Amino acid sequence: PVASIPLQRFEPVLDAQTYRSVLDHARWARELFAGRALWNVNSTARGGGVAEMVQSLLAYARGQGVDARWEVISGRPEFFTVTKRLHNFLHGAAGDGLALDDAAREVYEATTRANAEEFAGRVSPDDVVLLHDPQTAGMIPVLKALGVPVVWRCHVGIDRPGPVATQAWNFLRGYVRQADAYVFSRPQYVWADLDPARTVLIPPSIDAFSAKNQTLTDDTVEAVLAVGGLQQDGRHLAEAGFTRIDGSPGRVERRAEIDEGRPLTRTDPVVLQVSRWDRLKDPLGVISGFVQHVVPHTDAHLVYAGPSVEAVADDPEGQQVLDEARDLFARLPAAAQERVHLVSLPMADLEENAAMVNALQRRADVIVQKSIAEGFGLTVAEAMWKSRPVVASRIGGIQDQIEHPHSGLLVDDPADLAAYGSAVSGLVGDGARAAGIGRAGRLRVTANYLGTRSLVQYTELFGQLLK
Ligand code: UDP
Repeated sequence: PVASIPLQRFEPVLDAQTYRSVLDHARWARELFAGRALWNVNSTARGGGVAEMVQSLLAYARGQGVDARWEVISGRPEFFTVTKRLHNFLHGAAGDGLALDDAAREVYEATTRANAEEFAGRVSPDDVVLLHDPQTAGMIPVLKALGVPVVWRCHVGIDRPGPVATQAWNFLRGYVRQADAYVFSRPQYVWADLDPARTVLIPPSIDAFSAKNQTLTDDTVEAVLAVGGLQQDGRHLAEAGFTRIDGSPGRVERRAEIDEGRPLTRTDPVVLQVSRWDRLKDPLGVISGFVQHVVPHTDAHLVYAGPSVEAVADDPEGQQVLDEARDLFARLPAAAQERVHLVSLPMADLEENAAMVNALQRRADVIVQKSIAEGFGLTVAEAMWKSRPVVASRIGGIQDQIEHPHSGLLVDDPADLAAYGSAVSGLVGDGARAAGIGRAGRLRVTANYLGTRSLVQYTELFGQLLK
């Protein structure tokens, strides 16, 4: 089920001209979809950026009277083994060491065909289908045979695809080429041998009003951190509330797990990275860089917050990477341990988890994204939306978001701990500069990375398609 949310809530956030254009496009979308449904199909209803984005964009589309619907494909474990392999290959990693061979194709085709045939019974040729990511590409031929317009949206991309990624692309190309349009996040991510006339660029976006990004008062931030066990001496415990996507009230009730003696105090300056426990997010580098190059020059504390690993069953590496971070923490001198906080956020209620991320980001003085590889880096847009100064690696979609040194600071080499440390220390020590960068970041996200921009771009795409 998808909520229905009016676009009018964007009026105070957007400038008058942009807001008018958003409403004009919404009217256009309503006309385009009169008498037809817009089906979105992906492989998971919860967890991960794609599900989060689909949920919010569909809710706004429904709020404008577009019959936007959401379907999730099903498959046996061997299908998801193949799609995980595709995902790894597309990221340039050979993963489980097995090939994308004929046996893999057989499993992939059987499952995507079965899903498409089951789904086809409910779709009218007048409808439009928006398929997300490699898991659904195999459905394209069956749906095209029905005569329904199909768009394929690829959320995956790497800066320089090598031979491994090309194998995955060779596997998918035959299906994808049959779509009426293909959507990628950045020009660098568009695959070779696709029809340029059908290729569309739409960057990811964040929902300004979700539990992750909605405005929280300072008191609510304190209350969320106090209830979550993240900050001692917090006040107003009764106020750890947030608004869920369906408009109902939510409350933060669970506690995060923290790997050190004491939570933050209200006056500690905070440097934050929010990321999964994944080597590509470089938690060890974040900790070492902070201890070597920030601790000696500031009185800041580092918080590295990730999801509690028991909750992320499909990521066996999460536990290993968290253990590595704990080992490094255990070997730090006591004075440095005092200043480093490894946090595992509860995942039982994803909106509660999001509210905790929101409060941490709002509490932070400087936000870091020291990734080694990044498709887009939603955490960067989330931080910039909250007017926080970001120090991040000059890689992937982060380069589109941050204009160095205006709306954030980019570090050329993600491995350069000293460069990271001096950028972070500089901002911790210069509140006026940090605030200026934060303001510029907020404007940049407002202009480029809110869901309203995605809705306008999708409307233009569907307008072309249904001409
Ligand atoms: N995130 C979260 N809870 C956590 C850790 C991360 O909700 O405990 C979110 C984070 O706020 C962001 C998303 O997960 O919205 C991660 O997206 P990003 O593009 O930064 O990286 P990815 O994990 O997709 O590589």
